[in-house]
Amino acid sequence: MALKYKRVLLKISGEALKGKNDIYDKEKLEDVAKQVIKLTKEGLQIGIVIGGGNIWRGKLAGTLELYRIEADYMGMLATIMNALAFEATLRKLNFDKVKVYSSLEIKTVTSSYNYRNAREKLEEGYVVLFAGGTGYSYFTTDTGASIRAIEIKADALLMAKYGTKGVYDKDPNINKDAKFYDYLTHNDLVTKNLQVMDSTAATLSRDGKLEIVVFDIKGNENIVKVAHGDLECSVIK
Ligand code: UDP
Repeated sequence: MALKYKRVLLKISGEALKGKNDIYDKEKLEDVAKQVIKLTKEGLQIGIVIGGGNIWRGKLAGTLELYRIEADYMGMLATIMNALAFEATLRKLNFDKVKVYSSLEIKTVTSSYNYRNAREKLEEGYVVLFAGGTGYSYFTTDTGASIRAIEIKADALLMAKYGTKGVYDKDPNINKDAKFYDYLTHNDLVTKNLQVMDSTAATLSRDGKLEIVVFDIKGNENIVKVAHGDLECSVIK
């Protein structure tokens, strides 16, 4: 089956890479990396945003009585760690065409973001990682992923969920009668308060006319399958 897209932005939550007792699970990191390498070799241009939730989330500040702003920057740093872990995994698997941009610069290990350079790298067949979220507190990596997807002119934002095959009207783990949506409009996403992404990211995706594909990353080669349009998932456009 042929690829469904030419260029995508893959959003993975930090949780999807988390181990039982550690921040990373080797198999999970390698599984995602191998699928990304496979798709790149098939000709898919892939940008990636990885969240930071396996390490730190800004809202954890409350329990430690820390200020939100510092806590959010800690969360952005966590996303840089995840991007570096993923870059290192790709290199370990002998894939060296990888570039890490960060909105929050650490000059020794990341490059400063420039959308033109990022597009060029994608055209050259590099896997491009976008770390640091938006670079601003009070935002999320979902919003960062929407912005980067629009800026690189991705055909779709592939939103990976862990253990849920797409969008439901209510939590399917609690409600047996939850309705699954295979197709939604951006307005549904913004008005129905569906648990896909936060409202800032949803509004932005609507304004940028960004197609969003919500799929389950848990499963045999599900990233490869969704990139070929060969997986049950929810499409928002
Ligand atoms: N964060 C932020 N600004 C951004 C992106 C992320 O302040 O533009 C912080 C925020 O505290 C968030 C944390 O980084 O809780 C980790 O990101 P996120 O929760 O989106 O990660 P995910 O849940 O996708 O793993």
